[in-house]
Amino acid sequence: MNISYLLRKNIRALIPYSSARDEYKGHEAVFLDANENPFNSPLNRYPDPHQQELKKKISGLKGVPAENIFLGNGSDEAIDLLIRAFCEPGENNILSIKPTYGMYKVSAGINNIEFRESLLTDEFQINVKSLLQLKDEKSKMIFLCSPNNPTSNSLRREDILYIIRNFDGIVIIDEAYIDFSIGRSLLPEMPDNPNMVILQTFSKAWGLAGIRLGMAFAHEDIISVLDKIKYPYNINALTQKVAMEQISTREQKDSWVRKILSERDSLAARLASLTIVKNIMPSDANFLMVRFDNAREVFEHLRREMIIVRDRSGVALCEGYLRITIGSEDENDALLDALKLFTSKLNNGIK
Ligand code: PMP
Repeated sequence: MNISYLLRKNIRALIPYSSARDEYKGHEAVFLDANENPFNSPLNRYPDPHQQELKKKISGLKGVPAENIFLGNGSDEAIDLLIRAFCEPGENNILSIKPTYGMYKVSAGINNIEFRESLLTDEFQINVKSLLQLKDEKSKMIFLCSPNNPTSNSLRREDILYIIRNFDGIVIIDEAYIDFSIGRSLLPEMPDNPNMVILQTFSKAWGLAGIRLGMAFAHEDIISVLDKIKYPYNINALTQKVAMEQISTREQKDSWVRKILSERDSLAARLASLTIVKNIMPSDANFLMVRFDNAREVFEHLRREMIIVRDRSGVALCEGYLRITIGSEDENDALLDALKLFTSKLNNGIK
């Protein structure tokens, strides 16, 4: 597949901004080139625009060469840049599944790109035929999310690979929740599939949503396009530093994941024993989709108790469901207590 052929013409022709620092990187020198303040070292200096040290660490962690890694201000930056690189406003369209993470549609809307959605099956899997029937000669990309938000399950690997191999455009697989999944990442498939992009993030398992750091893994032709159109210093110095520190203590992340998974099992079991809980979707992520007869009332009650969950009851296929993030042991206990209070009020006819 010729990636350059898929690009918007103006992006193909674009000469990117080049900072003086690009040309002298790695040298010990007197830097009088970037109008920085000579005081307040080291934060007086612009950060490495290519994040070379951090990429080297991520490369070791993931077993992916640095030239196949793009780092963004959250995965949300990569989502937006991919759309801007490949989709001509008012002309191209994007395919995706429904329900899924809301930013794909929002980013498409911001860029004036038509967004076509294919409803998942009753088992929350891709209806491959109906998804691919949405494509036409103006379709440039497909967004998939596995494990999927909000349904919490993983999409079938064979379906994803079939779509990648039968679509003449870019297929993005958002693996934001992959660390919580029993399923394997699709990362090892990347070298054989030049049209696929995998998104992962430091916001979930790594506990670093505050530093805003997302990763995109893809063929170097796609990565070089993202590098060409990003803001030159999109990853700030503090983010680069904190991410490198956290990677060097990666056992901590692994132990958080183990703890969250055991809390997920225990919370699911305790929720299942409540009469107001009608269903809990099997989860491959760090949240549970829980169905109540009266989801809106439960949501409002929890809010009055200062417990904030996400009301997904109005979302297609998720009618009656609240999305509940797995918290700490104490937070999960507080949730359970509040739900028990709701149940006893309901039984006593008090609202
Ligand atoms: N992808 C999915 C599926 C998500 O659920 C979220 C956050 N809710 C993100 C991406 C956002 O990731 P980031 O914080 O890296 O922008």
